[in-house]
Amino acid sequence: MNIAIGNDWQNWSGSVTAQPQLMSHPTQLEQLSETIKSAPGPIRIAGTGHSFTPLVKSQGTILSLDNFNGVVSHDGDKLQARVEAGTKIGALTKLLHGIGQALPNMGDIDKQAFGGGLGTATHGSGITLGAYHTQLVAMQIVDGQGKVREFDRTSNSDAMDAMGASLGAFGAVTEVTIQNMANYRLHRRRWTEPVGGVLDRFETIMKAHRSSEFYYIPFSGQALFLSSDITDAPVTTRPPTEDDDALGTLRKLRTYLQRFPWMRRKLIGTAIARLPNEDYVGEWLNVYASERNVKFNEMEYHLPFEEGARVLRQIIKLLEERFPHVYFPIEVRVVAPDNVWLSPFYKRASCSIAIHHDAREDPQPYFKAAEAIFRAHGGRPHWGKMHNLTAKELSGLYPRWSDAMAVRRDMDPENRFVSPYLAQLLGVDL
Ligand SMILES: Cc1cc2nc3c(=O)[nH]c(=O)nc-3n(C[C@H](O)[C@H](O)[C@H](O)COP(=O)(O)OP(=O)(O)OC[C@H]3O[C@@H](n4cnc5c(N)ncnc54)[C@H](O)[C@@H]3O)c2cc1C
Repeated sequence: MNIAIGNDWQNWSGSVTAQPQLMSHPTQLEQLSETIKSAPGPIRIAGTGHSFTPLVKSQGTILSLDNFNGVVSHDGDKLQARVEAGTKIGALTKLLHGIGQALPNMGDIDKQAFGGGLGTATHGSGITLGAYHTQLVAMQIVDGQGKVREFDRTSNSDAMDAMGASLGAFGAVTEVTIQNMANYRLHRRRWTEPVGGVLDRFETIMKAHRSSEFYYIPFSGQALFLSSDITDAPVTTRPPTEDDDALGTLRKLRTYLQRFPWMRRKLIGTAIARLPNEDYVGEWLNVYASERNVKFNEMEYHLPFEEGARVLRQIIKLLEERFPHVYFPIEVRVVAPDNVWLSPFYKRASCSIAIHHDAREDPQPYFKAAEAIFRAHGGRPHWGKMHNLTAKELSGLYPRWSDAMAVRRDMDPENRFVSPYLAQLLGVDL
């Protein structure tokens, strides 16, 4: 959760701080529209501050849609729901479950606002499962002139493709209609196996389950693999998570054994290989997300699916040879292609590799070295996670970049939503 004391704002990891002139929490559409027209600019829209990049930072106004929450209406036949964009994903899952609807997939946590998830192309894992924005059927958005505009897939498919992953740069998304599915249960399994074997059969194993993902624990040689598949089996108990304790132990081993890598490798490798398997069945909303209490910073690149194993081998080598102080796991997921112009999954099945770093320590040397590898293999950065690209590089990664920028200019002709960071990111002259 972001922290706001007076007008001080900071993101979840503490890597971004801001002191805007105004923190605005409108309660009604007219008020929101008036704020966009007259509040000090630039205006940046905030979800819950779970992005690691300065997307929300503003000296002018930070506009939160936390009062825009709930399910407005739903269609039981089409399994669609009209949702207020400030609704936290965790609350949304409960509301949807109660009306017999389900999100097809989710990310690691459920703390974000749904509008925030859409804003950066937030995703989970599954070779046939898209990011949250692939559920969009229609949206209501207040543009840079305070005008309330409605778009839907049938009548305005280009606009929907332009603004599906919008970085808060086109307007304030207030309501969205999303395509859901009927409630379902997931059979979740977790096991460990040597990472070499996983990488050798990467393409098969990542396609073998509805959702496949794994973590590589530095210096362990082992992958912690997670799979989920839909089942009719009855619900069983979800084992308690030990992630926070495990991170504490990995940190201690890093500190005490950094000069004895062979001993660190032996201890961690043995401990991970002996982790008990997990095997349980849960309602969809109780399976995907976990608590993340230990603060970290993160970089994640989305690569062409076929490049996944090759790139991961290089990242593991980089970490273990040049950055042995890193103890946070590397997370590997897969995502289905889509048609949204600023989606990092645009027209390509992707393998997402996320690297993490203790929030108390400088991540940049490791992240910059990894970024060179990701970029050499056609990676596109997660919009909400640390990267060092600007419009110069990004425009070459997105075939519909200039079309998206033309729609942005139409939505925000006076650049009300363009902060110095957004100007660099999108190549806007202020
Ligand atoms: C612990 C942790 C776990 C994470 N796990 C995942 C994961 O599994 N998968 C993944 O893909 N990402 C993950 N992320 C990243 C996170 O999901 C994204 O950064 C997401 O955008 C954060 O949502 P938020 O509500 O905090 O939005 P913010 O970070 O506050 O904002 C994100 C962007 O959305 C825009 N925005 C927000 N609301 C609106 C709105 N109503 N209208 C228009 N624009 C809006 C903002 O202007 C900004 O550009 C994780 C982050 C953390 C800290």
